[in-house]
Formats: sequence, structure tokens, C-alpha cells
Amino acid sequence: MDKPKPAIPSHMMNGSSPLHVSTETRDKNERDSLFAAIQTSNRGRQAVDFDAAPDYFPKPSGSNADYRGAMERHKILHSEIEVEGHSDDRAARTPLATSRAQSPYTQHPTIDFDGLSWPSGGTRERKEATEEQKEERLAKLAGAVRTILECVGEDPDREGLRDTPERYAKAMLFFTKGYEENLRDIVNGAVFHEDHDELVIVKDIEIFSLCEHHLVPFTGKMHIGYIPNRRVIGLSKLARIAEMFSRRFQVQERLTKQVALALSEMLQPQGVAVVVESSHLCMVMRGVQKTGATTTTSCMLGRLRSTAKTREEFLSLINRK
Ligand SMILES: [Zn+2]
Repeated sequence: MDKPKPAIPSHMMNGSSPLHVSTETRDKNERDSLFAAIQTSNRGRQAVDFDAAPDYFPKPSGSNADYRGAMERHKILHSEIEVEGHSDDRAARTPLATSRAQSPYTQHPTIDFDGLSWPSGGTRERKEATEEQKEERLAKLAGAVRTILECVGEDPDREGLRDTPERYAKAMLFFTKGYEENLRDIVNGAVFHEDHDELVIVKDIEIFSLCEHHLVPFTGKMHIGYIPNRRVIGLSKLARIAEMFSRRFQVQERLTKQVALALSEMLQPQGVAVVVESSHLCMVMRGVQKTGATTTTSCMLGRLRSTAKTREEFLSLINRK
């Protein structure tokens, strides 16, 4: 038996695009833009220059060479000559190469298992280091801490500080142990087929991260919700994923997005929502912010983004004390 058709088309009730974008396309587009946002954040922030001349319109003159160059590229592209030259050309490169090799799990390197998920240069090095290399790393880091002690005006050789450099070096490696973890190890064997399609929420996951601008902690809570689409993940794994991404140098916005994107990629769910509430020591200690003030960031995808009712259900559930 067919369901009776609603009088109002669904796009008008949900406020989504009237262009009849399939949810699959919508979800993929959301993941793509999230991926791009995380990439941008990795490169650091660019200040908006309000004094610069507005760049709304193409330059009236003097840019003929650029224009011709662009046309040349265009021609080459369409006659399919010198594709390699094209890929080396920043101006012609699309921000999201869809030609990237796809694993059965993912389109993005969010869970590029080999790269340990959003790696930095030393990530694999750290994970695969020999005992000797670990010792070397620790000694180098401890040396740097000793330098800090000297620079702030301390005597690194006084008794109370004698073991501090090594102790701090060990602590720092622990605070950043997320660099040694990858999603494959965390989720392996913990994603299941199951016909559950109700909102699943794990709230109040404690997170301890370090602000990448000051290397000072920010701590708080993460709330994760998702609506499965025949794939569910072991609940404890949500906390492990939060832990992995937070035990790296972060900005809260990116941390929030990375967790959302990782879940979205792995579970291909109907919707994902991640909310992070935290207090940044770099703000509290420097007096920019009153103690107790929190920063909240959120990232919603799929149905949790497009359907107000679902979103509200999530928000009211995480706010319930
Ligand atoms: Zn900071």
C-alpha cells in the first residue's frame, strides 16, 4: 500500500533546496565542503583585509596576459594535452579533486587509514618509531623544555626543576597521542549492519585538547548524535574517535568538523551532529575571557542539518540534565 502523498512538497516543509537534490548528493556535497573547510583550517587563518580594494569585479585592464593564460589552459584542457601541466597549475586546480582513489570506506582522507587520518609530517614517524628513535625524540623535546625554562628566567638545574624537562616531554607526547592513532584501529570490527534508524546520542564525552595557536589546553565536552542508515558503530568508539582527534593540536571548530566528517564517511548515516562546549585556557588565563565562559561549536550534517525537528530533538536531548 502506498503512503498518501502530502499536499505540501517535502522540500517546502524541510526548507531544503527545491531543486530536488537527492539526499545522497546532498550528503556528499556536505562532506565535500566540510572536507574543504578542514583543509583550509589546517593551513591557518587568513585575516580579512578591510582596507584592501574590493575584489568583486574583474580587473578592467592590465590583466590581458592572465586572461590569455587562462584561455590557453582552457584550450589545452579541452584538447586533453599535457594533463600533468594542468595538475601542477594552482589556478586551474579544482579545490576538491574527485579523482582521488577511493577506498570502500571513504571518499576523503579523513579516514585515509594509511595516513592515520589528517596526518602531519611526523605522524607515521611517531607511530612507527623504534625504541631508540623514541628515546631520541624524548631527549630532543626535553632539551626544548630546558630552553623554555632558561628563557623564562629559571634555573633549569635547581633541584625542583631537575626532572621537569623530561617529565614535561613525556606529558606533551601523551597530550598529543592522537597523532599515533588512526581510525582503522579504533573502529575495526566495531561498525555493524543493523536496521536501527533512530537518533543515537552519546553526550558529555570529556575532551582534553591543545589549542594550536598557544599550545595551551582547552577542555570541555563533546556531544555526538547520528541517525544510522543500516550501519551502527559501537558506542564506546564515539568517545575513542573524539579522543583521537582531540589529542592533537587543534582549533575547536576543526575538531568538531573532523569528528562529524569521520562519522559521516564511515557510517554514511542519515545525519550526524557534533557539538563541542569547551573552555580555552589561552583565553581564560590571559584574561581575554572570564573564567567559566565556554565556547560552543557545532557541525550538523544530513537530516540533522536539513530537518529542524530532528535537529531540535538532538539539541533538547543533549541539554537535558
Ligand atoms: Zn589559543
